[in-house]
Amino acid sequence: MTMKIADLTFEPLIEEEAIAKRINLMSAQLNADYEGKTPIFIGVLNGSFLFVADLIKQVTIPCEVTFTKLASYYGGTTSTRKIREDIDLSVDISGRHIVIMEDIVDTGNTLSYLIEKLKLHSPASIRVCSLLLKPGKLEISIEELRYVGFEIENEFVVGYGLDYKELGRNLRSIYRLIS
Ligand code: 5GP
Ligand code: MG
Ligand code: MG
Repeated sequence: MTMKIADLTFEPLIEEEAIAKRINLMSAQLNADYEGKTPIFIGVLNGSFLFVADLIKQVTIPCEVTFTKLASYYGGTTSTRKIREDIDLSVDISGRHIVIMEDIVDTGNTLSYLIEKLKLHSPASIRVCSLLLKPGKLEISIEELRYVGFEIENEFVVGYGLDYKELGRNLRSIYRLIS
């Protein structure tokens, strides 16, 4: 079953049920790893909003949840390597355990920029939790990347928070571009 979004055609890649199952496992892991620590989850908008919402409902340890906004794609299907910072962080993260929540790690440029920026505020620890990872496109090794939902091929995906030309964020499953 294909789906047309703006001028491009997509097909299903990861179904809603598979995402939910994976998120259950990831949250169980986080509950175990951060027991007694009261971490701050920082979602990177816009793409992570559904992932954060669904995952955080399964987190049972005390935690804080906040968001920051970074973008590098500007509506296209390839990374521009230019990062525009829209919102800064309003919470004090010094001495705190930080879990950055990402929709997808592609080249890793966005993430390494954010990690360096957060490190300046001396958090106790920083780890990254990303729903998706494209290992074949990673340009920088990121030791903080501890939790990954799914590894995917070098392909463009939409749905479950991820957009193409700002469309498709509302889709319950993840779809890949048919090339
Ligand atoms: P990076 O800096 O790792 O190259 O790019 C990360 C950001 O680019 C992600 O947070 C996401 O917003 C966007 N991005 C990377 N790959 C994809 C993709 O396949 N689909 C969509 N919709 N966005 C992507
Ligand atoms: Mg993102
Ligand atoms: Mg985008």
